Amino acid sequence: MPELPEVETVVRGLQKLVVSQKITSVQVFRNNAITPLSPEIFAQRLTGSTIEAVTRRGKFLIFQLNPRLWLLAHLRMTGKFIVTSLLSTPQKHHRAWFQLDHTQLMIFDDMRCFGTLELVESLDDTKKIQQLGIEPLSSQLTWNHLKDCFNQSSTAIKNLLMDQTKIAGIGNIYASEILFEARISPLRTGSQLSIQELKKLKKSIQKILNAAIDKNGTSISDFRKVDEKTGEFQNFLKVYGKNELPCFHCSTPIQRIIQQQRSSFFCSSCQQ
Ligand SMILES: [Zn+2]
Repeated sequence: MPELPEVETVVRGLQKLVVSQKITSVQVFRNNAITPLSPEIFAQRLTGSTIEAVTRRGKFLIFQLNPRLWLLAHLRMTGKFIVTSLLSTPQKHHRAWFQLDHTQLMIFDDMRCFGTLELVESLDDTKKIQQLGIEPLSSQLTWNHLKDCFNQSSTAIKNLLMDQTKIAGIGNIYASEILFEARISPLRTGSQLSIQELKKLKKSIQKILNAAIDKNGTSISDFRKVDEKTGEFQNFLKVYGKNELPCFHCSTPIQRIIQQQRSSFFCSSCQQ
């Protein structure tokens, strides 16, 4: 599932290709992707709009349109945006086409069909955006903020890191990598972390997310950039998916455990 670095990679790709372009036609091939609107209304509201900006909040992509309207996209498991020259026939997993300036096609492709495209009149009145926690790469992320979020909690730190209402954008892959970088066991609870550990955690969150953005995200299953090429951070993962392989630092076999129905990977020797 795309997390902050993958969504940021898509946003940066789209910024280069679609900003300032006018949406000249819209075709929807799967109505579920755009609920609750009908394909006709969805297309009608977007056609003629100009894409003024493409930004990110947590794992949401946000297209700011003129006249004033926002298109929120969530990639969920397998959603992707591809920008290409015009095509005559949609491929199997294409869910919507946005023709830009009559010359280019922005495609929303989604094999598993959990991704969503939603039009909203105002971000301030959109609950799913307003309830998001802080952006981890902003100056809002401080060890003090982590202390406020975590120090009363008996929830495991791995799950706290993935709680989108506390910090927005971290999912399963990066939670494991961040905790390895910080040398903290995923099984520790928020309330068990010392000030020293919270400081280490803050640095590790920013270090891992920035490193993953530099490598254009992680393509373990099917994440692709807007040019359909893969990211490269899968080559730099130290624990995620490394079950029973020797730890990068100490050679102890990496363990896989299940927390809230998701796999966590860690080194029981390096992470205490
Ligand atoms: Zn180790």
